[in-house]
Amino acid sequence: MICTFLSTTVVGIFLLQVWLTDRRHAAAGHWCLTMWIGSLCTLLFALRAVGPPLLTVGLGNLLAALGYAFMWAGFRVFDRRRAHLSVVLAGPALWCLAYLLVPQVTADVNARIIVSSVIISAYSLWIGVDVWRGRGREVLPTRTLAAAFFVSHGVIYGLRIPMAITVPAAFGHGTAYSAWFALFSLELFAHTILAAVTMLVLIKERGEALYRQASRTDALTGIANRGSFLDDMRARLADPAQGTLMIFDLDRFKAINDTYGHVAGDLVLKRFSAQVAARLEANMLFSRFGGEEFALFTPGRDMASAEGFAEALRQEVAALPVRIGDREIAVSVSIGLADIATFGADFDRLHSAADGALYAAKEAGRNQVKRAAPSLGLSDVADRMKAPAGADAVARAG
Ligand code: GH3
Ligand code: MG
Ligand code: MG
Repeated sequence: MICTFLSTTVVGIFLLQVWLTDRRHAAAGHWCLTMWIGSLCTLLFALRAVGPPLLTVGLGNLLAALGYAFMWAGFRVFDRRRAHLSVVLAGPALWCLAYLLVPQVTADVNARIIVSSVIISAYSLWIGVDVWRGRGREVLPTRTLAAAFFVSHGVIYGLRIPMAITVPAAFGHGTAYSAWFALFSLELFAHTILAAVTMLVLIKERGEALYRQASRTDALTGIANRGSFLDDMRARLADPAQGTLMIFDLDRFKAINDTYGHVAGDLVLKRFSAQVAARLEANMLFSRFGGEEFALFTPGRDMASAEGFAEALRQEVAALPVRIGDREIAVSVSIGLADIATFGADFDRLHSAADGALYAAKEAGRNQVKRAAPSLGLSDVADRMKAPAGADAVARAG
């Protein structure tokens, strides 16, 4: 009990610190309460031999139920689900009713073991199932282990019920005497430590997942950024099939900024990317490549099919209503396409070719879709390969 008391108190301090550092970790607040309620509960249990039963047994078990109820609520909050007050109060209320109104529970330690085991086992199993189901919304590495801890704890605690019936514990000097009771108490201690570590690790894993997500997202438009697109493309091209890369560049965007202001320019970027994102099909990759340039990879589509898709997008963008005050901003986009069938599954070649096609679309008057002809793509690639080498040589000579 001293070990349990110390560990719950210390973990409670850590959880409080997590919550104070970032209030978005509301679960940590619940779990801090869980731990400190657990500390108090352990303290009362430890005083069973000397304290009044109403306090040490009655209030002690009430706090145990309340601690598990808050733990359950914390896991609900962690997964952004509702923590119903009725469920939080159900366990503690059940204990109070049984202890105060059923004389057998007040008098007999085995009846008390049964009631408290039902409550704690129910909360534990529920937590385990919730944690497991939460992986549908958010995959965290420790979820499976955490679910296993709580389900096994629920099952083990549930086993106290048949034990109390078949091999009842004796009660004396405020303590239940039986070999199995000591083993179950040891399991409770081990589980308390495991639960505490699980909570801290889950919070840490969520933080890491959020940072990973942020590092892959473009802050203005909310779509993937260049780095994330390149990573995903590398993975796609390692297993090449059909596919077409499209490079989009908004037309005369500098003029939009100059005429309507930078904020209006930002709005156009957001509207444009939202419009394209709404049309994306499964497996397509779409990202902001930089400035007013975007990249879209359509796996499985050959050039003809991708061109139709791009043309539909171009028309939708040209019809995009972007208003600033009472003025309407005319938006259009030029699109260059290059396909794997012609240029191979090499990103640099695809990109150069699509970029060349985009340049041709701009030259031809903008607001149009151009496919990279093999000759256009290859000569362009050759030019580009020569240019940086020359530049490097000049730099080295300098
Ligand atoms: P073109 O039709 O040839 O593509 O002409 P353009 O004006 O679109 O191209 P240019 O490269 O001359 O200008 C791009 C402009 O995009 C310049 C830059 O200030 C602006 N820009 C880049 N990133 C942002 C951004 O995040 N927000 C805003 N508002 N403007 C941006
Ligand atoms: Mg540009
Ligand atoms: Mg542009």
